[in-house]
Amino acid sequence: MNPYIDDDLATLAEHARRFATGRVAPGFLERDDTRVLDRTLMREMGEMGFIAPELAEAHGGQGMGCLAAGVIHEEIARADLSLSYINLLASLNGQILAAHGRPEVVAPWLKKLTRGEALLAIALTEPRGGSDAANLRLRVERIGDEYVINGEKTSISAADQADAVVVFGRTGSVESQAHGVTALLVPTDVPGLTRNRFDCHGQRAIGRGSLFFENVRVPVDHRLGDENKGFVQVMQGFDFSRALIGLQVLAVARVALEEAWDYVAQREAFGKPLSAFQGVSHPLAEFATQIEAARLLCLQTLWLKDRGAPHTAEAAMCKWWAPKLAYDAIHQCLLMFGHGGYDRGPMEQRLRDVLGFQIGDGTAQIMKTIVARTRAGRKAVPA
Ligand SMILES: Cc1cc2nc3c(=O)[nH]c(=O)nc-3n(C[C@H](O)[C@H](O)[C@H](O)COP(=O)(O)OP(=O)(O)OC[C@H]3O[C@@H](n4cnc5c(N)ncnc54)[C@H](O)[C@@H]3O)c2cc1C
Repeated sequence: MNPYIDDDLATLAEHARRFATGRVAPGFLERDDTRVLDRTLMREMGEMGFIAPELAEAHGGQGMGCLAAGVIHEEIARADLSLSYINLLASLNGQILAAHGRPEVVAPWLKKLTRGEALLAIALTEPRGGSDAANLRLRVERIGDEYVINGEKTSISAADQADAVVVFGRTGSVESQAHGVTALLVPTDVPGLTRNRFDCHGQRAIGRGSLFFENVRVPVDHRLGDENKGFVQVMQGFDFSRALIGLQVLAVARVALEEAWDYVAQREAFGKPLSAFQGVSHPLAEFATQIEAARLLCLQTLWLKDRGAPHTAEAAMCKWWAPKLAYDAIHQCLLMFGHGGYDRGPMEQRLRDVLGFQIGDGTAQIMKTIVARTRAGRKAVPA
């Protein structure tokens, strides 16, 4: 029983778990090697209604609420964190497009997104740094009915696999900081856009890379939100994705913990099951406790969002706590498997996969600064 998950959501989660166990989990290890997101699976997820179900029906979704997105996301992530990026990117970008795009421009993309026919990336980080996100330099110039883009984005998830990218660029002066940034929807097949792929430690099926813009032109109607207001308006979507990331990494930690409990109950040393030793069972019990609490925080954040209540601080709490907790918990689980845990396999892959989220979407330091700002006030915590 969970106060945020009613019978309907529990049934939805069961449905998603059956799909994830049968279709997603079997390719988990292989996708780490091939480094390709399976588009057939993505389409199947779309057909099942698993991609961005929180979007309104008019936007291709099912109007199911953000908690529904959260419980599906957990189940896909349990099977493969990389593949659950499909859900994460669709929910983040879908919300941005639905709220800030011109209907005639974004409607076809939203349809493809929710059907699992298109993958959208989001490009904020630049080579000079990601934490000071508003201080970006990618140049966007309006010439007639078009925006012309020049510069580079880097460390972008799905950079070389995405069909379109939500790009943040500078239309105002550098001094205008967050108030001179415009967001654009850029299809990745436009002339002048090239991409590469990094060799990542984890999350290898989704991957990361850079985007290089050389006189890339998009029509003015591809703008998301108002000119110079992109950062302030569009960044609000990140509160949603931070709670989803929390659930995503905790789902991976939960499955690692389940496997570790099973293992220590059957493996013996000194004539007893390992679980008989408190040095083994107590660390696992501590992580089980903390994961339960962190998961409730993530679900509560989505519950607040579904009610239109403020949740910026809660989302930042999810984003700094859950990835660190998940990493530490999986590390402990891996150690419980002894030498076997160090072999290439699910446990070490999970560890590599969740580590990325201690950096991606903002580091713990930046998240704690957001929490501090909401508590002490922006003037008291200016950075
Ligand atoms: C797996 C993964 C996926 C990613 N996906 C995307 C994506 O899809 N789109 C995208 O735009 N970006 C993405 N990123 C980039 C990510 O958002 C940035 O890496 C992140 O915001 C940090 O920026 P940086 O790496 O430039 O570090 P920097 O900003 O250079 O920071 C370096 C270190 O200094 C610390 N630091 C910086 N400022 C402060 C401060 N004021 N107080 C205390 N500490 C501070 C940081 O916490 C960090 O530890 C991804 C990164 C990873 C690892």
